[in-house]
Amino acid sequence: MHFTYVTLFSNLIEGYFQDSILKRAIESNKFQISFLNPRDYSASKHAKVDDTCVGGGAGMVMTPQPLFDTLSTLDDEAYIIFAAPVGKQFTQNDAKRLVNKAHIVFVSGRYEGIDERVIESFADEVFSIGDYVLTGGELPSLVMTDAIVRNIEGVLGNSESLETESFETPLLEAPSFGKPPIYNNLGVPSEYLKGNHSRIQALKLAMSECKTKYFRPEQLLKHKIRTSYEK
Ligand code: SAM
Repeated sequence: MHFTYVTLFSNLIEGYFQDSILKRAIESNKFQISFLNPRDYSASKHAKVDDTCVGGGAGMVMTPQPLFDTLSTLDDEAYIIFAAPVGKQFTQNDAKRLVNKAHIVFVSGRYEGIDERVIESFADEVFSIGDYVLTGGELPSLVMTDAIVRNIEGVLGNSESLETESFETPLLEAPSFGKPPIYNNLGVPSEYLKGNHSRIQALKLAMSECKTKYFRPEQLLKHKIRTSYEK
């Protein structure tokens, strides 16, 4: 799998791949990354990529020419995703679906955003990572990449951990506890220590339900789930 980042600030993205799981995944060819800088494609004398808005309005926008010329270099296999606060909310389902694409291109906006004609001409999808505004699309591109590449076989050491994670089912993951079982006088649920697998699973389900009801009650409503203690 290949990810290309169209960004004015590749250094903001590169650093994230220089450690830990994603570094190892690149080293073992699970995926590869590359960068395109619209400034390199600007036809203006000073490699300008932004200008004021037609019709007035606050701030600068990324102008069409550098981005049209950048994105026109891509072949038909490239699946082009724009990061934008007005996009569809990115979810775990999207991460699992997009892992099947051979080449994903993330386009990061800056300033007040990207000229709409670029988005309309090139976007396969437009995603927001949440209802807040960031200074650029680099973090959203990284967030989406990270969520996608976890689903490439062999990127995570233990593929079982994928199956039990939050959002793999409508319920959030049950609390986890690392060893030792007692730390600073703080214990773990005693059932965890008794070795009865089915009772531990039942307790984990009950805790998942409680957590979901407390933090994300809309998940239970959306999936019409009645918790085990309500049945
Ligand atoms: N004027 C835009 C608006 O009100 O929708 C905000 C532009 S923002 C300052 C600059 C860039 O950051 C956007 O073009 C987009 O690429 C990125 N961005 C900011 N917040 C985002 C979010 N929540 N999700 C995805 N991308 C975001």
